[in-house]
Amino acid sequence: MSYIVGIDLGTTNSLCAVFLGDAPRLVPNPLGKMLTPSVVGVLEDGQVLVGEAARELRVTQPERCASCFKRLMGSDSRVELAGRAFTAPELSSLVLKALKTDAEKFLGEEVPEAVITVPAYFNDTQRKATKMAGELAGLKVRRIINEPTAAALTYGFHDRDAEKKLIVVDLGGGTFDVTLMEVFEGTLEIISTSGESFLGGEDFTNRLMAIILQKQGTQLEVAELQEPLRVARLRQLCEEAKRKLLGEPEVQVKLPTADGTVPDDAKTVKITRDAFAKAVKPLLDRVAAPIGKALRDGRTEAAEVNDVILVGGATRMLPLQEFVREYFEQEPQALFNPDEVVCLGAAVQAALIADNRAVDDMVMTDVCPFTLGVDSAKELGGQLRSGYFVPIIHRNTTIPVSKEEVFSTIRPNQEIVQLDVYQGENRKVENNLKIGDLQVTGVPPGPAGQEIYVRFTYDVNGILEVEAYMANTDKKFRTVVTQHAADLTDTELEEAVKNLQSLKYYPREDMANQNLLRFAERMVGEVSPFQREQFEAAIDMFEQALGSGDRQTVEDARDTLAQVLSMLGIDPEEALGDQSDG
Ligand code: AMP
Repeated sequence: MSYIVGIDLGTTNSLCAVFLGDAPRLVPNPLGKMLTPSVVGVLEDGQVLVGEAARELRVTQPERCASCFKRLMGSDSRVELAGRAFTAPELSSLVLKALKTDAEKFLGEEVPEAVITVPAYFNDTQRKATKMAGELAGLKVRRIINEPTAAALTYGFHDRDAEKKLIVVDLGGGTFDVTLMEVFEGTLEIISTSGESFLGGEDFTNRLMAIILQKQGTQLEVAELQEPLRVARLRQLCEEAKRKLLGEPEVQVKLPTADGTVPDDAKTVKITRDAFAKAVKPLLDRVAAPIGKALRDGRTEAAEVNDVILVGGATRMLPLQEFVREYFEQEPQALFNPDEVVCLGAAVQAALIADNRAVDDMVMTDVCPFTLGVDSAKELGGQLRSGYFVPIIHRNTTIPVSKEEVFSTIRPNQEIVQLDVYQGENRKVENNLKIGDLQVTGVPPGPAGQEIYVRFTYDVNGILEVEAYMANTDKKFRTVVTQHAADLTDTELEEAVKNLQSLKYYPREDMANQNLLRFAERMVGEVSPFQREQFEAAIDMFEQALGSGDRQTVEDARDTLAQVLSMLGIDPEEALGDQSDG
């Protein structure tokens, strides 16, 4: 039997899990950790790093690293990285490939297939881009599933005999999703889902950075352009501060210098819990809107929800928890680690696809998270006006679904009917997202009002197919031509795979060493100037040893560096991790 892994491809971190025996199990990365930062770095010699080591490298050499590229999925944007331009699916494929390799190491055999999660609010183009990322990584993508649905599956799998309504509030690094569902007798029915694709924990960090910089008379946007190293380091310090605010009533954030270092006597800015809560209030208002929409669509009152489940690393933030507690007038739950719950659910979905006996009493139904339709002209006051959105599949319809609508030609002898396909909730197409188009050509001559049937089919992966035909001809027109580069021809895909294959990957077994090297580099700016020379000598020796390729030399130099770090009061284990999986 070949394995299907479940992958949570996150903005900040990614995870991989596999269903083993009767439960999903997380797969460790080369550092023995379950969370792999979704960061890609390219070293001076062209070798590619993924994960912790790339995240460390980002602090000292941000121009060599890419992160948060999930936010660019489905767009034509490219990220310049060490002189090479990468698309978001290409960068994501490097993360997926690293996870695939981890899973193969863990299972001791090839892993050909995967279920990959996406935010519920990902549109057709973004879903296709995610699928393509999987293919570029050499994975057959068996299913794309919504992140909150996956989280729900973990809870549903755990609590199969329950009978209740629950809501999943999922705030990740870059996206926000809310999903209302009902569980009864092993059936998990998603009732409604809503969200925002540009709202996440990173925005809360940005707010923290913004108020700190504001106190220094600078704006974040300006500082980002003028002092990228300072901002990169400040982002890291604010990320730490945000987490510390969980356990402490106030934190002191040190201000890095323009070159990104933090000297001992660095100026500090005090941030209290209250100041943080006040700074993020506008973001919490944005959290409220999708919750209200999901409840309204599901015809459910907040008081009727039995369990409120928190998912996504950013739901650990106290202002968010406080907000949810007040909204639902109940204590939110996080029975599973919010970082892991989506990935575990993806592995449960993989087990459902593989007809695993452990899940044969479970059924799950999902919904289409947004309204899909076409651009059409309307007759208003005797005049034809174009640009109106006509829904064909309404949001929160259970999927898979196939629906048909009839449209008419608007002019006599009209030969061509252009069908522009949109996703969104606005009555005017200009305010919705165009996801593709289709041309019906060769309409036979005749008066206006000839009927054209348009069928939308939305599958379980959330991918849309559009068909159009005329009742009196045999001709059928199908498929959606997407707006972006997400749809590649086979030759283009092969070309992209070849390009990626030409990249040299940093050896997995040396990843912990690379991470230690980058971690030590970052620490250089933190130690006292009197100790710096000795510290740098140990780093130089370690870097040289890594280049030598001789195991013993590497081990000796690593021990020396670890000793120097300990002597400086820095824990080297933080960088080396637990490499128990080899
Ligand atoms: P995810 O995409 O689910 O991995 O979520 C990552 C987000 O969760 C990032 O924005 C982190 O800053 C945030 N996060 C993780 N742990 C914490 C914590 N202890 N306190 C506050 N935010 C956190």
